[in-house]
Amino acid sequence: MRSTLTVISILLFVSLQWAASGAAQTADQIPEAVQSLQPDARFKADILVIVAHPDDETEVTGYLARAIFDQHKRVAAIFGTPGNSGGDAVSNAQAAALGDIRITEAREALASFGVLHVWCLGGPDTPGQNVLHSLETWNHGNALWQTVRLVRLTRPEVILTWLPDFVAGENHDDHQAAGVIATEAFDMAGDPTVFPEQVAEPDNRLGVSNLAEGLEPWQAKRIYYFSDADNTDFLVGKGPEYNTTDISPSKHAPYYKLAAEEMAYHLTQDDTGQLAKHALATGDFTYFKQPVRLALGKSAVANTAVTGDILKGLTPGAIPYVPPRGYRQEARQGVSVELGGPWAFYRDFWRAHSLDHLAQLLNPPEMSVGNGEQIHVPILIRNDSDEPAEVILTSTLPPGWKELHGTARYPVRPHEAYTAHTAYVTASTAKSEWQTLQWKAESGGQVIGTVSLRAKTASPGLPQ
Ligand SMILES: [Zn+2]
Repeated sequence: MRSTLTVISILLFVSLQWAASGAAQTADQIPEAVQSLQPDARFKADILVIVAHPDDETEVTGYLARAIFDQHKRVAAIFGTPGNSGGDAVSNAQAAALGDIRITEAREALASFGVLHVWCLGGPDTPGQNVLHSLETWNHGNALWQTVRLVRLTRPEVILTWLPDFVAGENHDDHQAAGVIATEAFDMAGDPTVFPEQVAEPDNRLGVSNLAEGLEPWQAKRIYYFSDADNTDFLVGKGPEYNTTDISPSKHAPYYKLAAEEMAYHLTQDDTGQLAKHALATGDFTYFKQPVRLALGKSAVANTAVTGDILKGLTPGAIPYVPPRGYRQEARQGVSVELGGPWAFYRDFWRAHSLDHLAQLLNPPEMSVGNGEQIHVPILIRNDSDEPAEVILTSTLPPGWKELHGTARYPVRPHEAYTAHTAYVTASTAKSEWQTLQWKAESGGQVIGTVSLRAKTASPGLPQ
């Protein structure tokens, strides 16, 4: 390094002396500058997996085995949390200690697939169903700042992540948060005005204390989603589906078995690592033979077939930035009613990120509830008129459900959005079935709107 600097110094000195002499220079007498540096090729990924917890990657390992072992694609992964909540099937280690173990299990599992570029955003594992809660506990800005940096570092062709939606199923709020942040990063990493310190060049990269990161903006080409819904049939035809019973030509084993071997590293987790260990011991791979089902979020390049291979037609290399539509305030009139909270967020989020088709995936919206469980559903009443309004909200409940609060006359000021916090106790029946909740809003003697939500009753308990 020192010798290089010495040569540069001598060249500078000579050229300055030459200039100082006042003699005219010809082009070949002017020293040639060194070529600018390229991004670090060691970190270039074809596929960047952005998920919430150690073991979430197992949702797609049945596909990753094909991409890595037989198509020689490079994969990197980001975990939002170390997975510090939930039980431990191996020892008494819990909380932060469990997080240390689980993120190590994830690193070992992915290393078995040759995936060594693995990062954790450090958000706390936050069991629940409301994505806004995980975005709060993860410190949304910090998690996004890290994720945009890692997209710029790994320069993926494709991002795979959790579906940003509220579904009937595990519906883990951390999963949804990973999908939201991955989508935001997809739309921001190519914009040099977003976290500009990451794409500023250092004055002297060989010096110390450089406060510019020297990365380059990067527009990933496609983003795909997978879901933790109990039933993923709603994804059929919305993206590619990868058969896991095919035999890997290089490993001479079916992809489901390779996926089970990867999953078996997550031994602290009963429903994944222990399940995989049991499958490998008994040869019963029923659980692993499900296909990997993806939904195309969006593509930044032309000629993307919705159900085509995720990397089909992609040529590694930078493409121009494709901005999303961005948030635009809707022009509304009169008094209206809709689901609030996370459902209202998603309606705006999908439009802002040019993902309008996600609004049609689950319509009407759905959720799953435990038997005898207390649930809370925010209902958003908007008054876009110039006059105060009184809105009478009533609900129609499934048999055996009890309303705790919600039915009321709501005073709504002009141009105000009022959130009515409705709450219920579900029936204590053990039967798992779909039910419908409905709310009716009336104002001035007229029905101004109804809202429906499909709820699937199941055993009580929060997702892990
Ligand atoms: Zn998870």
